[in-house]
Amino acid sequence: VAKAQGRAGVALFEQEVAQVAYDNLVLEGQLGQAIEQNEFTLLFQPQLRTSDQQIVGVEALIRWHHPERGLLAPDEFIALAEQHRLIVPIGQWVLAEATRCAQRWHAQGRAMTVAVNLSTLQFQAPGFVESIERLLRDAGLPTGWLELELTERMLMDDVPTVRERLHQLRALGVKLSVDDFGTGYSSLGHLKDLPIDKMKIDRSFVHELPQDRQSCAIARAIIELARGLGLTAVAEGVETGAQRAFLEAHGCHQLQGMGISPPLTAERLEAWLQQRAHPGA
Ligand code: C2E
Ligand code: MG
Ligand code: MG
Ligand code: MG
Repeated sequence: VAKAQGRAGVALFEQEVAQVAYDNLVLEGQLGQAIEQNEFTLLFQPQLRTSDQQIVGVEALIRWHHPERGLLAPDEFIALAEQHRLIVPIGQWVLAEATRCAQRWHAQGRAMTVAVNLSTLQFQAPGFVESIERLLRDAGLPTGWLELELTERMLMDDVPTVRERLHQLRALGVKLSVDDFGTGYSSLGHLKDLPIDKMKIDRSFVHELPQDRQSCAIARAIIELARGLGLTAVAEGVETGAQRAFLEAHGCHQLQGMGISPPLTAERLEAWLQQRAHPGA
C-alpha cells in the first residue's frame, strides 16, 4: 500500500510540476504582451522625513492588472520577467511612467524624489546608463528627483563595472539607494567606496521593533552606520506607532510603510497629499 501511495504521490508531484511549468509558460506569454495591452500600473508609497514630518519622496511599485487573475504583485511576476529578460522592457516602462508622474507633480509644485526599483539584468543591460541619461535630459526636471533602488547583491556583483555604472549615474545627478539593507551579503569595506546616498533598513527588522532585542540592535546599528557615512537612513515597512517612535528616537531620517500610507495610485496620492496639507478642507 505504501509503495502504491508513494508511486501515486510521485505521479501527482510530476503532474503538479508540469502544471506549474505550463502556467508559467502561459503567464510568460501574457507578460510579453502586457506592456502593449497597457496592463501595468504604478503605485506610489510616500516617504516621510522625520525631522519635519514632510513627504519628501515616493517609491514606485509595479502592479500587473492580469486579464483573468486580477491585480498581481511583483512577487508573482518579476522573477519570471527576469528569467526571460522581459524585465528590461518592463523596467523601461516603469522608468518612463515614473518620469511622467514626476513631471506632473513638479508642475503642481510638489518637490518629491521618485524612487524606482531596478533588477540586476536591467542595471547590467548594455546602454542602461545612456538610457537614464536620455530620460533625464528629456524629462526637463531639476536634478536629484530620480532615485534608483539597488539590492546589496547587485552592488557586490562584478565589482569594476558596477562601480563605474554607479559613478556614472551619480554624475548624472541620480540618487542611489541600497534596498533591503541587512539581508544581503555586502561587505562594508566595499560599500564605503561606492557612491551610495541611502540605506533602506529591511522590513523584516522593522517588523520586530521594538520588542525583539536583536532587531532593535540591528536597526540602531544600520541607522548609526548610515549617519556615520553621511547617508540617509530609511526604514521600510513601518506599520505601528511603536515602530515609528523607536525609529524616530534613534535618528532614522525617513520612514515608509503602511503606518504612514499604503502604496497609492498617482491620483490617490495627490488627494492624500492635499488632505495632509489641508486637513480641514
Ligand atoms: P521593496 O522594494 O522592498 O518594496 C517594499 C515592499 O514592501 C512593497 O511590496 C510594499 O508594498 C511593501 N510594503 C510597504 N509598506 C509595508 C508595510 O507596512 N508592511 C509590509 N509588510 N509591507 C509593506 P511590493 O509592492 O509587493 O513589492 C515587492 C518587491 O518587488 C519590492 O520590494 C521590489 O523589490 C520589487 N519591485 C516592485 N516594483 C518593482 C519594479 O518596478 N521593478 C523591479 N525590478 N522590482 C520591483
Ligand atoms: Mg524598493
Ligand atoms: Mg525594500
Ligand atoms: Mg523589502
